[in-house]
Amino acid sequence: MICENQQELESYVAHARHWTQKGKVADYIPALAKANQAALAVSIYEPGKHCFSAGEVEHKFTLQSISKVLALAVALEDIGEEAVFEHIGMEPTGDPFNSIIKLETYKPSKPLNPMINAGALAVTSLIRGSNNHERLERLLHFIQDITNNSNVKVCEEVAQSEFDTSFLNRSMCYYMKQHNVISGDVEEILELYTKQCAVEVSCRDLARIGAVFAFDGKDPDTDRRIFPTNVARICKTFMVTCGMYNASGEFAIKVGIPAKSGVSGGIMCAVPGRIGIGIFSPALDEKGNSLAGMRLLEKMAKAYDLSMF
Ligand code: GLN
Repeated sequence: MICENQQELESYVAHARHWTQKGKVADYIPALAKANQAALAVSIYEPGKHCFSAGEVEHKFTLQSISKVLALAVALEDIGEEAVFEHIGMEPTGDPFNSIIKLETYKPSKPLNPMINAGALAVTSLIRGSNNHERLERLLHFIQDITNNSNVKVCEEVAQSEFDTSFLNRSMCYYMKQHNVISGDVEEILELYTKQCAVEVSCRDLARIGAVFAFDGKDPDTDRRIFPTNVARICKTFMVTCGMYNASGEFAIKVGIPAKSGVSGGIMCAVPGRIGIGIFSPALDEKGNSLAGMRLLEKMAKAYDLSMF
């Protein structure tokens, strides 16, 4: 058993809470600026046990970059590992998640990995479907299956807000189209990407996603296979090397588990063979990771001996 009681988890949240005042809520997507700076919540999904939660767990938030892992899983299943990595590399960048610079300096011209925006946009362009509606439905169904929650849906307000202001992501798409990294209609790719980023979840949903990855693509409660082991392996490897953007190295030292964060303040963690963790706290550090969320995870990693290294 990881967490013995509710009070223990609540005390960790209480200790980390002051960090919420030190971060900054993302506002480059205008709709995200409405988030409550003071919120901090965590859920631990331990198969066969009670799902422990503490803090403002009733809050819903959008996946943002956490969706990059899920879109990658779908694309890997759709067209296979070899075809995906013809378009996207496997290396960490050391640059911010929305950086454009290595698209030009790295040869051959392709995004370095699927966890930065350029790579994620290329992944989204690979998802199969005869139109965007069908592609989104497939992705959404996959997320509903992993979360075991058929109510998970897109927050249209956040999707539209990002779509209307995605000038940098648009630029990267056009750049990649010029260099034959992506084909297809750029506006359609952006529409699908902004909708996948705007899928709305709770901490508990995130913890359950983490648990499915922790158990190599199987439903941790029923043992039903949701996606192949190899897909889970590739996704978790990217979570370790690139999941926390250009703070992934520090995170590997201080916490030591596969994790993926998003600019809405979510962090999804998969502790291999043990638990899934979902975190929400929208005040971010300068690299775009949830500030209080990272501190809380550091504390939990020590208390529960979570590091896989
Ligand atoms: N939708 C966001 C973007 O493309 C996702 C980025 C993130 O969460 N880091 O900018």
